[in-house]
Amino acid sequence: MTGVKNLDQSRALVLFSGGQDSTTSLAYALENYDTVETVGFDYGQRNRIELECCIEILKSLKQDFPQWSAKLGNDHLLDLSTFASLSNSALTDHTQEIAVGETGLPTTFVPGRNLFFFTYAAVIAYNRNLGTLVGGMCETDFSGYPDCREETLKYLVLTLNHGMGTDFELVTPLMWKSKAESWKLAHDLGGDDLISLIREQSHTCYNGVREELHDYGYGCGKCPACELRAKGYAEWKAKF
Ligand code: ZN
Repeated sequence: MTGVKNLDQSRALVLFSGGQDSTTSLAYALENYDTVETVGFDYGQRNRIELECCIEILKSLKQDFPQWSAKLGNDHLLDLSTFASLSNSALTDHTQEIAVGETGLPTTFVPGRNLFFFTYAAVIAYNRNLGTLVGGMCETDFSGYPDCREETLKYLVLTLNHGMGTDFELVTPLMWKSKAESWKLAHDLGGDDLISLIREQSHTCYNGVREELHDYGYGCGKCPACELRAKGYAEWKAKF
């Protein structure tokens, strides 16, 4: 096909938010690709703590995981603050309560978020010859977000490749895993050290609580994100 830019698929760009899923996906990429860069987004999310977690996690991965440190390349942070003004979501509007909204989706839903993120990521990846895009989206335990579905992302990468004349691959290692299986994958990839890193340094809680360290990590223990994370951790401990 003419007009196709052949990208290097051994080079990956990971959407990295500092949460459990994206940290596990980053470890997966470090294990499976030669060079791995990360991209994070500042879109006015209510938990600024996530962005600080990203920096600390990258530092720890470089220091404590010698098998991966040489592969870990640039971290890109994109300012998408206009995104907050477009959307009407509890993730970006601090006055809204986190609950199930009228559409049956949680009020934390930001319409089209992953479509934006992957499109921006693809521009960086295009310029840096990173042929594989990696994200921690998951359809199994998902909260009903349509932009986390495998089918959505399959069409998105098709559109990106048509629109940019590229041959990107989009990889979602957690797509069909339960939260318990995600903990297991993290353990398979990086052993107890990676489990400790995820417990202590990643952030999932919607309420931004980091006071008390539970066995599954920091969090309020009450919001839907904490509940999923805690349940998955307990299942992993019981089953595997
Ligand atoms: Zn919480």
